[in-house]
Amino acid sequence: MDEIVVKYNWSAPYYTSYPPLREWTFNFKSENFENALMDLMNKNEPISFYFHFPFCRQKCLYCFCNSKITSDRREIKSFLRDIGTEIERFYEFFKKHSFKPVVKDIQIGGGSPSYMTDEEFKFLVDKIKLLVDPLELEEFAFEVDPRSIDSERIEFFKSFGVNRISLGVQDFDPYVQKAVNRIQPKELVETFFTPKVKSGLKGINIDLLYGLPLQSIDSFRKTVKTSISLSPERITLLKYAHTPEREICQRALEKYSFPDYIEKTRIFKEALDSFEEAGYVHVGINDFVKSDDELAIALKDKTLHRIFNGFSPGRAKNLIAIGPSSTSAFNGYYFQNVYLEDYNEQLSKTKFPILKGYKLSKDDLIRREVINLLLCERLINIKKIEEKYNIEFKEYFQDEIEKLKSFIADDLIEFSEEFIKITSLGKMFIPHISSKFDNFLINKEYKVSGP
Ligand code: SF4
Repeated sequence: MDEIVVKYNWSAPYYTSYPPLREWTFNFKSENFENALMDLMNKNEPISFYFHFPFCRQKCLYCFCNSKITSDRREIKSFLRDIGTEIERFYEFFKKHSFKPVVKDIQIGGGSPSYMTDEEFKFLVDKIKLLVDPLELEEFAFEVDPRSIDSERIEFFKSFGVNRISLGVQDFDPYVQKAVNRIQPKELVETFFTPKVKSGLKGINIDLLYGLPLQSIDSFRKTVKTSISLSPERITLLKYAHTPEREICQRALEKYSFPDYIEKTRIFKEALDSFEEAGYVHVGINDFVKSDDELAIALKDKTLHRIFNGFSPGRAKNLIAIGPSSTSAFNGYYFQNVYLEDYNEQLSKTKFPILKGYKLSKDDLIRREVINLLLCERLINIKKIEEKYNIEFKEYFQDEIEKLKSFIADDLIEFSEEFIKITSLGKMFIPHISSKFDNFLINKEYKVSGP
């Protein structure tokens, strides 16, 4: 195992989008977004909405999210008026074209959405009601910072339709928590796992982060054990990306020791094995869900879908994101909104505050589908791709197939006339394998940077 880890000691993208955000261009404006929306409305396919609340009370030093620390409620209220304006723009646009969106899921993420007061949350949900009745959704997911509220308050959110909460935990180790400036004892997190809180929820997710300073295999083993003992419906285990050149707050972590690449991979492998032994199903790259969870069922039924925020059961393949810096994906387009500092100004100048965008070419669409199949199903049915895109797979991907040979030799994939299949060992290297189909990365292998 270690030999293979050393051999593939380079980082690969997680493909939250293909092509990745850095390839999107500034040529896309509000008018392009409106045209793309028109096409989407003509198709009348289900839509998921994401709403971004960017504020937090306190900075976690590992933070890589688009967030701002504030204790100024006037700033939050002013922001909520802005996001309310953006929601109204969608409402007016849909109304003008007599379009009623079919919405199955919504999510409020951040930042720390649970930092909103009752009044602020109600204001936001009242605006959301212009687009959809939250009580009629299949899923209304809400991110909760266990430090910002007590479990009683979950009842308030539930009364507005919230039926899934994600708890940011990251690590239960007190030394790691202190180092990253996120102190939340296990006893605090436990208060959210009561029958009362669980009642009426589809599930509780726990988010963990490995690769943080002071973590070791031994310390993280305890975090994994504690997480399993709480029995959340889903566990997301992400790798910490140390990019202090971009994220100023991470510079404060440089004084600590970090687990190296080999240790990080061992941490992930041991966590993966522990979650599977505990009955969780490994979905996609980083998600572990109970066997009766709709994501596990979608994995079996081959309807699993990759979205920006993770994986979805595939009810809606079009994502419209509202709020600063948020990213939409629909109908062969990607769009990103401007960041918080420009949000108010852009809303006063244009209908939709678009910063960047990308229109996928036929080649991008083929490669995105191949990469998503590897991420979601861990299997490419060659014939299906050939029929759908009218290509001869082995000819089209001649160079890429050549690059897969080392994965075949290392038993990470099986390659036949009909299928490319990721093996059990290969599950550790899904991003690496997928990256061979990435036209923006081909011939480049990124060495792991930082600790
Ligand atoms: S709560 Fe999340 S968004 Fe806020 S500072 Fe911490 S990691 Fe960043």
